[in-house]
Amino acid sequence: MSQTEIPPSAEPSRSTWTDVTPQALYDKCMTVARNLWWSWHPEVINLFRDLDPVRWRQLDHNPIALLSEMTPEQLAQRASEMVLYTRINQAHRRLNDYLNNTQTTWGARKAGVLGSMPVAYFSAEFGIHESVPIYSGGLGVLSGDHIKSASGLGVPLVAIGLFYDQGYFKQHLNAEGWQQEEYLNTNVEEMPMEPARDPQGRPITVEIDTRDGRLLAKVWLMRVGRVPLYLLDCDVEGNRPEDRELTSRLYGGDLRTRIRQELVLGVGGVKALRAMGIKPGVYHLNEGHSAFATLEVMRERMHDDGLPFDDALREVARRTVFTTHTPVPAGHDRFDGKLMEEHLGPLREKLGISYEQLMGLGRVEPQNEGETFCMTVLGLKLSRRANAVSNLHGVVSRRMWANLWPWRVEEEIPIGHITNGVHIPSWLAYPMAQLYDKYLGTGWHMTMGEPGVFDRVYEIDPGEFWETHNALKSRLLEFVRRRVSRQCRRRNEDEASVEAARNVLDPNSLTIGFARRFATYKRANLFLRDIDSIAELVADSNRPVQFIFAGKAHPADEPGKKFIQEIANLRRDPRFAGRIVFVEDYDINVGRHLIQGVDVWMNNPRRPLEASGTSGQKVVLNGGLNFSVLDGWWAEAYNGMNGFAIGKGSSHVDVEKNDQRDAESLSQVLSEEVIPCFYDRDAFGIPLQWIDRVFNSVATLGAQFSAHRMVIDYTEQAYLIAAGGTTSEMSLR
Ligand SMILES: *Cc1c(COP(=O)(O)O)cnc(C)c1O
Repeated sequence: MSQTEIPPSAEPSRSTWTDVTPQALYDKCMTVARNLWWSWHPEVINLFRDLDPVRWRQLDHNPIALLSEMTPEQLAQRASEMVLYTRINQAHRRLNDYLNNTQTTWGARKAGVLGSMPVAYFSAEFGIHESVPIYSGGLGVLSGDHIKSASGLGVPLVAIGLFYDQGYFKQHLNAEGWQQEEYLNTNVEEMPMEPARDPQGRPITVEIDTRDGRLLAKVWLMRVGRVPLYLLDCDVEGNRPEDRELTSRLYGGDLRTRIRQELVLGVGGVKALRAMGIKPGVYHLNEGHSAFATLEVMRERMHDDGLPFDDALREVARRTVFTTHTPVPAGHDRFDGKLMEEHLGPLREKLGISYEQLMGLGRVEPQNEGETFCMTVLGLKLSRRANAVSNLHGVVSRRMWANLWPWRVEEEIPIGHITNGVHIPSWLAYPMAQLYDKYLGTGWHMTMGEPGVFDRVYEIDPGEFWETHNALKSRLLEFVRRRVSRQCRRRNEDEASVEAARNVLDPNSLTIGFARRFATYKRANLFLRDIDSIAELVADSNRPVQFIFAGKAHPADEPGKKFIQEIANLRRDPRFAGRIVFVEDYDINVGRHLIQGVDVWMNNPRRPLEASGTSGQKVVLNGGLNFSVLDGWWAEAYNGMNGFAIGKGSSHVDVEKNDQRDAESLSQVLSEEVIPCFYDRDAFGIPLQWIDRVFNSVATLGAQFSAHRMVIDYTEQAYLIAAGGTTSEMSLR
């Protein structure tokens, strides 16, 4: 058994409140609040909530902000009223145990060689918790889950990202249902971070030369369990005013902003590691955004070890792991020669290569002057291990980049796949986790990425399971009603509408959730093609169906905003009123409520454009069922019994025909399979067949699509090989 987490049932602390001064108590709480470890420990979250439930919610579940509003004496007072002393001590002790007990982890046994030369994991966004708004969506949540699992498994890893002081936007819809974007400044004081320091204890500022002057970035340290996350921030004195805003927003601005952000992330990130005295054994570039890092590492090797360019290139490639996430051609960053020379010119000179040589590193055909510089191409050329994020995405990526290896057949293109997974402790509802504890024993916390962990799920009493699920569903409906009525009030709607919003949805109806970015290929409005049959299903008084939607469109994506509008305005259609809701401002918090409470999670992207998708994976252990196009992770997950499939896993080349076919399949499978199965009840009102499918889903998918399994795969199939410095290519298939 591998010790990956401290089990939740650690024995209670023996110390009593009498030995703790208010200040000491306050310091303990603050120490816990300053390591994001708390965010995946429900007992600790409940502790913070109990300090002040109303403010907790209003402050976006930010414990530092909450504690900052209290004096140590007020905290002590509250702790004694609520009998929290033992819980505070216990949380503090468990965090310390977690940080100190590194000898028994999976990583200590299996990845010890990385100890002195950790993996440096680069990503443009990290989604760790709703109170730390430095993510926009799936890529960020994946990075957050990756480093949390690395922490849990004890895999030596440091993470590098950017600190965005305005994050991504807050979403509201106006009276017409049109998306409005609002950017709020994050209060840095309330973020769980501090200045990163060099070995002499001095704060760090890195300098990056461009043709157009020098860019400065300071470096923050955020603690995510055992993993340090270093965030670069251009809001520094000495930068020009426009450069101080360079890292304000995620994916805002033009291509020049974009290349400058990526320069800071990649080149600045490598410089920051060097300044801190960290010598990575492996560089993991999560998506192309950070691929400039390879050029700076090459410069280091040439400077430090006197290697010629070609040898430095080989050395760097040996140690680099590159993950591509985008099967949509337009999703790959490309920069023209002018932007490249302005920003990479000084580094290029240090590398001793010509402009054409540099451009060649980012081109499929190095000599083709018409080709722009593509970050994905750089990542693929400068890594020996490259992977896609699902089996199907691997096939698509090999085809997509076949021209980089024109002498090879498609099957031998060196891009493998490691399918994404989710960090179970972050996404699993506490009551459901307790149910697993009861029937499986708490040992599952320690082996949650390993095959077979959830095989005994069939021993759970279906009645007890159903009760737990329904409690979570009620919690979701309460949340939705609160949010939707608040949305009405914000739009100044009349009291009748606000009151109606307070009563939307029905706890006994089959509840389908759909939340994701409103990118057009995700086809949020697919179900509208067959709106009359969907309306019939929704209105069926014996077997009703209801929908909860959420999601943001990129500020520049007009068609995406139009989808949102169409769906949000269905609430005015009498056939759907009270049965379709749109919850504004999709984020980790909204996501968590949805995936924990829905009966069904719907996903209908245009195959094969969904590289993996992870939201459906979050539903699995919480007891919901997936109802999805056979794309991304679902294409390899669906076994006929562990959920439902839309379409047959093929795609018509004619987009229109393809969409029509999927829309028909959607309403057909919904009415012929999903609804009958959900409403087929025994004498006690329990849907035994449905629960059988849920148990099948938990047993077959729970461990397989966890981030623990994913990080184990990366470690065994990529990190250890790259750290060993062998030149053999990744063979993941
Ligand atoms: C999980 C998650 C995502 C990613 O979900 P997809 O299935 O990839 O669309 C995006 N945003 C949030 C807030 C999430 O929690």
